[in-house]
This record gives sequence, C-alpha cells and structure tokens, in this order.
Amino acid sequence: MHSGESIAADWAKLFDDVSTGVRNTVYDTVLTYGADMADAFYARMLTDPDARPFLTHEAVEKRLRFSMKHWLETLFSCSDVERFAAAMAMQRHVGEVHARVELPVNIVARGARVLKGEIAHRLLGAGLAASDLVDAVLYVDNLIDLAFEEMSSAYVASHERAARTDEAYRVFSYGQNMSLERERQRSALLDWENRFLQEMMNGAPGDELQTLADSSFGLWLHHKANTIFEGSSELPIVRQTMHTVDDNLLPLCQQQFGNPDREEVRRLSKIVQAELGQLKFLIDGMFERFVSLESGKDALTQLLNRRFLPAVLSREIELSRRHRKPFAVLLADIDHFKHINDRYGHEAGDRVLQQTANLLLNTVRSGDFVFRYGGEEFLVLLVEVDDAHTRRVAEKLRARIEQEIFLLPNGQSLRATASIGIALHDSHPDYQRLINRADDALYRAKHEGRNRCMSADE
Ligand code: GH3
Ligand code: MG
Ligand code: MG
Repeated sequence: MHSGESIAADWAKLFDDVSTGVRNTVYDTVLTYGADMADAFYARMLTDPDARPFLTHEAVEKRLRFSMKHWLETLFSCSDVERFAAAMAMQRHVGEVHARVELPVNIVARGARVLKGEIAHRLLGAGLAASDLVDAVLYVDNLIDLAFEEMSSAYVASHERAARTDEAYRVFSYGQNMSLERERQRSALLDWENRFLQEMMNGAPGDELQTLADSSFGLWLHHKANTIFEGSSELPIVRQTMHTVDDNLLPLCQQQFGNPDREEVRRLSKIVQAELGQLKFLIDGMFERFVSLESGKDALTQLLNRRFLPAVLSREIELSRRHRKPFAVLLADIDHFKHINDRYGHEAGDRVLQQTANLLLNTVRSGDFVFRYGGEEFLVLLVEVDDAHTRRVAEKLRARIEQEIFLLPNGQSLRATASIGIALHDSHPDYQRLINRADDALYRAKHEGRNRCMSADE
C-alpha cells in the first residue's frame, strides 16, 4: 500500500472511532480558540533558543499565526477522505519548506508537543464528560501525529533530494580547474595584504580597514571552499585564523591610524603578516591534498578513493533494500607485502599494487566497484549477487593474483598472493558493520595460512 493510502486508511479509522459529538466539540474548540492557540504556540517557540533562529516577530505577525490557525481548522474540519487528502497535501508542503530551511526535526517534534498541550488545555473547559474528554484528547493527539507523520515523510524525501544535489555539485566542483583556483586565492590574499600595508602607512584616524571576511578571498572561503574542501582538517583553522585577524588584530591596527610612533605600527603589521603566512600555508596544504586526490581517484592505482565508500555503500544498501537483491563486499589484502617492499624496494611494491588494481578491475563486471581501501588492501563491491556467486568471484580473484606475474621496473618479476574476506550484505542498514564482517573474515583467512578466501558466515 502506498504510504498516502495507508495514512488515509488510518485517518478513516480514527474518524470512525470517535463520536460525532466529540468531534464537533473538538472542531468548535479549534474554531473558537484557534487564534489563541496559535498565539500561545508562537509565544512559546519565539522564546525557544533552538527555534528562535528560524522565526522573526514579523513573520509570526504577518503570516505564521494566521497559517497555523487556518491549518488547525483545516485539519479538524476534515469529514471525508478527499478533504483529508487535501489537508495532507498541505502538510507535505510544510514538510518540504522545513527541509529547505533545514529546520531540525527535534524542533518540529517540540512544536507538535506544544500544540497538543494547547488544545488539550482548551478542551478541559469544553464541558465534556470524563470519558468523552479522554476520547477527544486521544483524537487530537492521533490526528496531529498523522499530520506530522506526513510532514516528516515529505521532509525526509526532500532532504534526500537536497543531499543528492549537494553531492552532484561537489563532484562538479572537483572538476573545476584547481590549480587556477589556487593561484586566484593566493593572489587575492596578496592583494589584501598589500592594501592592508598601504593603509597602515597612510591611514588617517577614522579610516576603516577592509576585513578579510569582506575581501574576495573571504567571500570565496565562505561560499565555495566549504563545498569543495568539506571535511578538510585545515578548513576550521583557516576560518579561525581569519576571525583572529578580523576581530582581534584589525581593531588594534585601526587605533594606530594617525599615530606618529611608527614602531607600534610596524609591530602590529608584522603580527598580521604572520597570520597571513599561516593562512597561505594552510590553503596550500588544502589544495595540495585535493589535487593529489585527482577527482576522487587514488593517485597510485587510479581506483576509487575510500572516501567515496560511505556514499557508494549507503546507496547500494538503499538499492538493495528496494530491489531485494543483495550485494557483497570483498576485502583483499596482499600477503607478506612488507617482504616485497623489503626485498625489491618500494617502487616494486608500487608496481605490484598497480598491477593488482588492474587485475581486479578487469576481472569484475563494470557495474561492480573497486576501491583502494588502504596501503595494500582493496575493497571490491559486487552488486546484485548471491552467496555462491560471491564465493566464485572471490576465488577467481584469489587464483588470478596467485597466477599473475608481476613485472618490476628493473625487468625482474615476482609472484604474490592475497587473502580475501567475504561478507554478503545481510540487510543491516549500517555499512560499517558489513565492512567489519569482511574484515573479521579476512583476519581469519590470514590466520589460517593466507592465500585463501574466507566468508563472514563460515
Ligand atoms: P600480511 O600478510 O599479514 O598482510 O602482511 P603484510 O606485510 O602484507 O602486512 P602489513 O600490513 O604488515 O604491511 C603492509 C605494508 O604495506 C606496510 C607498508 O609499508 C606497505 N605499504 C602501504 N602502502 C604502500 C604503498 O603505497 N606502496 C608501497 N610500496 N608499500 C606500501
Ligand atoms: Mg594490510
Ligand atoms: Mg598484507
């Protein structure tokens, strides 16, 4: 059953379970006190520190109080499935708006709680007999829960769409010319520095220095760097450094305008320049790491970088849930790889890794994924497989590695083996659990003598 149909069926049952008298009393109460309820609701939310950033007094006065009252009346006036469906469409719209403004779900839940309390409070004075009062309160609670349920499902769908767009934009950003971007930001910082030094020399009392945040570098940092470098360890320090300059140092610098004593001017300029040096260093590091990732591929093997693992695994878990076709994860680790490095050199080791990567890629289907998981560890994700198929592929990969002749840069060649841990997705939603199961199996394969495949289920 479609979720909309099931919610309509739940509503019909709720409607039938309560007497017409009680329903009318609830409706009359909402009609009489709707405006007061909306006032009380927003009075409470406007003083709530979590909800406050999403509300202005003006928006509450001009739109929200009225919308809330209208919403209550619509919800409690539904007397047939069509009107209920219209109310739920309105509800989904609200859910989408909440997703766009990224209203946290806990605030929405708090809102529902406050609202139920308001209505129950008014119902107490409606002169209902005790058992009718219980019915009325339950009816109100359930109806509001239904409405919020519908709103949440629209919220989640909308949120997922937004996340996918974010991801697409990030991938697009990766495709931009990063070396050009780095040069532009370097020169933007340099421009700001020159301008700053000039003003420190010539500034008159009352002049204001341009902040870094307002510079073209600051705008770039605020609007673009977040997307491109999300998760980078340098980024928070870059922001912190910029705030230190803008909020702590520049006000001190401005106080020196017109001061004939140049010593203090020079000292402060030096401190600002040192902070800028730190900024340039951090930005260079950020770009360097980025460029080396070569748009998501591992630089040595050209396989998928493991940082895409969460995105790919989450997506595969979702697909497999929808189509009921399991997928599998193989963790392959080259045996005694340290010996290879020690005996033939690091460059030879690198060759073995590249050749293994090619071998894996050429053995699996084009719909499968191969990641470089760690130094000499590879993660292969096989889509739409069963247990027997997975074992066959794992065994084929193991045998091919064993048979491969690895050619070294100096013309020598060597042989290698690998151990493989297998885990078939068991419908658990947490992908880390799946990786851990494959890792345990790999550990057992090593323990039992290497050059073998072990499954998480044996
Ligand atoms: P085991 O059979 O238990 O897996 O032993 P092992 O020696 O393969 O495993 P271990 O994890 O002890 O050593 C892995 C080595 O791989 C250590 C590290 O120096 C080397 N390594 C990691 N990344 C690279 C790389 O990119 N290139 C080269 N040449 N070596 C690497
Ligand atoms: Mg290893
Ligand atoms: Mg190893």
